[in-house]
Amino acid sequence: MRKHLVLVGGGHAHMVTLENIGQFVEKGYKVTVIAPSFHHYYSGMGPGMLGNTYTSEAIRFDTKRVVTSLGGIFVKDRVVRIDPDKKIAFTQAEKAFPYDVLSFNAGSYVPMESILETLEDKDREDKDRENKDRENIYPVKPIERLMEASEKLKLLFKEKPSTISVVGGGPSSAEVAGNVWQLARLTKGYLPKIRIFAGKKFMARFPDSIRQRIFSVFLKRGIEIIEQGYVKTVTRERITLESGIIFDTDFVFMALGVKPSTLFEASGLPMGPDKGLRVNQYLQSVAYPEIFGGGDCIYFEPQPLDKVGVYAVRENPVLLHNLMAKLDGRPLEPFDPGPDYLLIFNLGGKTGILRKNKWVFGGRLAFMIKDYIDRKFIKRFQAIEKN
Ligand SMILES: Cc1cc2nc3c(=O)[nH]c(=O)nc-3n(C[C@H](O)[C@H](O)[C@H](O)COP(=O)(O)OP(=O)(O)OC[C@H]3O[C@@H](n4cnc5c(N)ncnc54)[C@H](O)[C@@H]3O)c2cc1C
Repeated sequence: MRKHLVLVGGGHAHMVTLENIGQFVEKGYKVTVIAPSFHHYYSGMGPGMLGNTYTSEAIRFDTKRVVTSLGGIFVKDRVVRIDPDKKIAFTQAEKAFPYDVLSFNAGSYVPMESILETLEDKDREDKDRENKDRENIYPVKPIERLMEASEKLKLLFKEKPSTISVVGGGPSSAEVAGNVWQLARLTKGYLPKIRIFAGKKFMARFPDSIRQRIFSVFLKRGIEIIEQGYVKTVTRERITLESGIIFDTDFVFMALGVKPSTLFEASGLPMGPDKGLRVNQYLQSVAYPEIFGGGDCIYFEPQPLDKVGVYAVRENPVLLHNLMAKLDGRPLEPFDPGPDYLLIFNLGGKTGILRKNKWVFGGRLAFMIKDYIDRKFIKRFQAIEKN
């Protein structure tokens, strides 16, 4: 029997492994990639896609095509749990995939159930009704849904004056609000009112130099930042704060921060405090040496990491090396998260804010740098599709 490598998710941390599937196949290993979508969308360009700077085709990677052209097997499905003792991964379609080595790059999700008003209301009769009630409520992840949101917003802006709410006060909230503003200008319909519900403090994790710049850009655009406390419940028509204050809305983005995939809890694997897969310096499960992981879904035990694509990207070469080394029976390589990373937010209107160490600046140049880096990144991987 050929040794079997199973990759769960084809996200940012698996890109280089996907690029090199041919090497595994040449050595006689079988490689299966299980992911819920044929494409992987590059999150750094997601808000720009929402704002119509990029098309959806420009920001995505054709996972299925790359995997199959390099001799791997692509399965469109979602892994729901694994049995780490028997070394089997189970999917939503009730298929079982035995593995010798497995790597998780299953990303993260926006935990929003706790503030969405649910079926408890007496007059809500069934699930269809609940789904309809949620049709104008979009989480900022998965990124592909931002395209759907963008199309709906264009229709809304043409139809009537509206209010767009962004729940959450971090970077993705700022990027989404800024790009909704841009989209409205490009659409040439009714200009919406845009409100950010930022809890008690907008961009609380960031220094004043960043906060003030974003405040000033948004003030000029008429984007309202509400810092009167946390949101208690959300429906498609109403945002209610914990204090009881109610705001009307027509469309809602949920940007509440992200949590690692729920897979690890379902599989009884050791996790970190955030419920991410607990991994050691080799990006390897602390309990099961044949399990690895990268990106937002892991808890890196030596040093907890921010949930940013930068770390997922930096993990790529180490994951490639370690997955191959584990199959070959060679020594593993440790992951070094490296120095502070460059952060650039796309605020729409071809404006950005750049931060590196203590250095901060905003404006068109910041956006241009981000645009250049992001386009270069995705083009590198899209080039593999053409091979
Ligand atoms: C709006 C927004 C903008 C952002 N901008 C930036 C930025 O500019 N720079 C930056 O560094 N970070 C940015 N981030 C953070 C960045 O998105 C994440 O850190 C990054 O996506 C993590 O990559 P990942 O590969 O771990 O996860 P993901 O990109 O989420 O990829 C996970 C993959 O796994 C698949 N998957 C999920 N569940 C399963 C399952 N059960 N079985 C199989 N496959 C599964 C998914 O389909 C997906 O393809 C942004 C985040 C958001 C929300």
